[in-house]
Amino acid sequence: MKLPVLDDHIHLSPAGGNVESVRRFERAGGTHCIVVNMPYPGMEVTKAGSFRAQYEETIRLCDLVNENTGVKAFAVIGPYPVELLALAEKWGVERAKEIMMAGVDDAATLIKERRAIGFGEIGRPHFPVPKEIVQASNEIIWYVFTRAREIGCAAVVHTERVSEELYAELAALAEKAGLPKEKVVKHFARTDSVAATNGITPSVLAGREILDAGLFEEPNFMLETDFLDDPARPGAVLDITTIPKRVRKLVQLGVSEEKIWKVMVDLPKKAYGVEID
Ligand SMILES: [Zn+2]
Repeated sequence: MKLPVLDDHIHLSPAGGNVESVRRFERAGGTHCIVVNMPYPGMEVTKAGSFRAQYEETIRLCDLVNENTGVKAFAVIGPYPVELLALAEKWGVERAKEIMMAGVDDAATLIKERRAIGFGEIGRPHFPVPKEIVQASNEIIWYVFTRAREIGCAAVVHTERVSEELYAELAALAEKAGLPKEKVVKHFARTDSVAATNGITPSVLAGREILDAGLFEEPNFMLETDFLDDPARPGAVLDITTIPKRVRKLVQLGVSEEKIWKVMVDLPKKAYGVEID
């Protein structure tokens, strides 16, 4: 049995290594990845409809990986939370929110066409912002959750730092929207609050703190690097080779393949509805 190795949250950039970066992942032992939409250089969002070009780029990069490497890649798409700020400066918060929601609808169309497996990353800026921006962001999260429920897909959420309160808030929102909580994936989760997620699926950043066999007794999380594929900032985030290395180390530490299987196969299936094999 070959253990699948999934990085549940990477970015690829047309200006970065893209396929070459994923080849490095593959050489290190990676087998699957989820490619998350982001604002690409030169693809500014200025109006309703501009998100579509970003999504097409994310899907194109994902397709390139599938055609040119042995790694299976899936795309998630949606209006990147920080975009709301620039849009609000240009158009005011109300109009900016409408543009973001049109971006949600454009993503929904592509997800329904099965060109992407879910929404992401969507949410709120991770740094302090004015109250009306938080409010508008929350309405966008709500809208994504209702559309995700309708389609039956996942929503990958980007927010300020995780806490038990944040998980409880997301769980309440999901419940109200009728979206199964495990389909809400909290990106950039940490090991410290992983025991109290209220049913939300954490995607834990694969720093050294995950090298703790105790965390894998009843694992309820997936693992990510949030790789940025930005040659100008190589050390800014974890490298794309990190998760294969961590998995090898975890096996040496005595974590059973069965537990790793849960992290790499069972939870992604529950959250995203994808087969990892
Ligand atoms: Zn990200």
